[in-house]
Amino acid sequence: MAEKRPPRATGPGDETFWQGCANGELLIQKCGVCGHRPWPVVQTCEQCGSDALAFEAVSGMGKLASWCTFARPYYGELMPVPYDTIIVELDEGPWFISNPNGFANADAQLGMPVKVAFIDCEDGQGPFRLPVFEKA
Ligand SMILES: [Zn+2]
Repeated sequence: MAEKRPPRATGPGDETFWQGCANGELLIQKCGVCGHRPWPVVQTCEQCGSDALAFEAVSGMGKLASWCTFARPYYGELMPVPYDTIIVELDEGPWFISNPNGFANADAQLGMPVKVAFIDCEDGQGPFRLPVFEKA
């Protein structure tokens, strides 16, 4: 059953990202000029200013870089507190904010290997698959 979530990001380029998630792929942009991998989605490279950006599937592997537990209800009943949030340093470089899946922050260790998983969610626009991370 789909988990109700706050609205997903829907700026320019985000549609491609969410389509990748629907296909079980984590698509991250890569700059065709300098090789930088920006995240979240941008229109021009943060490093060199080029707009030669293309989405590429990354491995979905990474390491736990940080974590916190939210105790304040920013999203009302959609995200009942407390809930855990993590930052994953993807193997390809970008840092990705997400939620842990199958473990709690009480078990978190700095540098712990994690891998992406996609869970069925739903927001006001309908169903989508959200990338979360589990122990690798
Ligand atoms: Zn660049």
